[in-house]
Amino acid sequence: MEGTSLLSLPEGMQIEQIQITENGLVIEVTATTPTSCCPLCSEPSSSIHCHYRRVLRDVPCAGRRVQLFLTVRKFSCRNPYCERKVFAERLPAFVEPWARMTIRFCQQITSIGLATNGKGGTRLAARLGIQTSRPTILRRIMALPEVSTGSVLYLGIDDFAFRRGYRFGTILVNLESRRIVDLLPDREAETSAAWMRQQPDIFVVSRDRGGEYAKAATLGAPQAVQCADRFHVVKNLTEATQLLLARCQAEILAAKDQEESGRQEPHKPLISIEQWRPPEPRYVEKARLARRAGRYARYQQAVELGQRGMTPKEIAGRLGLSSRTVQKWLAAGTFPEARKRRKKPSSFDAFAPFVLKRWREGEQKGITLYREIKAQGYTGSERSVYRYLATLKQAEIQAPVNVERIKKYTPNTAVWLFVRDPKTLNEIEQEDLATIVRASPPLKRAYDLIQSFLAMVHKREGKRLDVWLAKVAESELPELLSFASGIEKDKDAVRAGLIWSWSNGMVEGHVTKLKLIKRQGYGRAGFPLLRKRVLHAL
Ligand SMILES: [Zn+2]
Repeated sequence: MEGTSLLSLPEGMQIEQIQITENGLVIEVTATTPTSCCPLCSEPSSSIHCHYRRVLRDVPCAGRRVQLFLTVRKFSCRNPYCERKVFAERLPAFVEPWARMTIRFCQQITSIGLATNGKGGTRLAARLGIQTSRPTILRRIMALPEVSTGSVLYLGIDDFAFRRGYRFGTILVNLESRRIVDLLPDREAETSAAWMRQQPDIFVVSRDRGGEYAKAATLGAPQAVQCADRFHVVKNLTEATQLLLARCQAEILAAKDQEESGRQEPHKPLISIEQWRPPEPRYVEKARLARRAGRYARYQQAVELGQRGMTPKEIAGRLGLSSRTVQKWLAAGTFPEARKRRKKPSSFDAFAPFVLKRWREGEQKGITLYREIKAQGYTGSERSVYRYLATLKQAEIQAPVNVERIKKYTPNTAVWLFVRDPKTLNEIEQEDLATIVRASPPLKRAYDLIQSFLAMVHKREGKRLDVWLAKVAESELPELLSFASGIEKDKDAVRAGLIWSWSNGMVEGHVTKLKLIKRQGYGRAGFPLLRKRVLHAL
């Protein structure tokens, strides 16, 4: 293969010599195209005025640095009407006039810069055989052209913190293409409004609740429908719920006591749900009792021989036991009962909490319970379910809703029981939630209102908003009332947010990515560099 195509040099260049030096490859290249066009009049010329040499850095070759010693020419322009007498030949796709690096080499440095930060970038570049400096990397990034955003119809806007939360910037996302279209250096209404004015096609602005971005959209995109972002609405509701739970903490603790006193059935033995198993069949019990009798007889013999002064080793030999067993028996002082066999895992285990819950609710028919868990994926037999239920008649199973657990809930953890979709709560969480709301009528009221609001969010039922607000007004729950009054102030946008499918969820995702880029550091070059890196991110 010819060297020029191997090194992907442009057409019309000829490799004269390749030298391997300590500093890498030195490649001598000559331009050989017979003609070149005058940059002023575009007339081709074939009369060479002189030769000169350019030294260019090029992309590394197999990890070696590459220097091109490029011999190019100056041509005379033969067009009598042209002012330019002499011009240097151009290699437009390969190197810019006056540049000391090839274009492809610049592009590699830029890519490294976009993927890393200045300092880390130089280290990575060195590994790849590219010698460069932090200022060069930063200069390359700053020299990137402005990205054209095109026309934005659905705009998501939010703030992000830079400089560790001292300063805030604004992130703008095209909700259709899911791309960041710009970053702004602050979160002033006027800055964002000015940006929106450049985008007369904006149709929907999805923003956080009220505040500067509402003002920005009113000023800069008066034609647009404003959508209060559902993410923020739900976040506000979650915060209100947290406050409510903090106030009702005492009631949650009282729930624990109520449950405790309501669950006393002293005449039945208590078994933890993990140990719940079917009653032992008759023949198993018989065999177990026979084994016990044999063991007990040998125990008595061992004690007797011990009292006669025999050593454990001698006793062990006589009775056919291990001397360790004999030692243990003699040390114990009383007959050690054999440990209960470990419970075999059963396909019923996963459904045990559910069955127990239904049993307590009053559903004690085996066939019904069997059908219910079968629908949930139980693969065991119907008979087996009956056997488990038989145990329930003899013993009290301690439900997994351990009253101690209720005590452990803080407003920050209990809030998830209230705001999550109840279908996603596991059996234990469901039972805990039930225990809590059973204990406190205000919490029960709050729970119903919160779930009703969330259903409105998920099913896009913004038309129900007024009805919901009216119910809250009657609820006498100060935290929800204050959440509702916040909504009243921005009601049109909240309703729009509850109806439209656009959401700032993806803006939040971008803010997270932004944090990563920020964490990699952009140092003194500050906001403009951050902006370039984000907009050109790979
Ligand atoms: Zn010319």
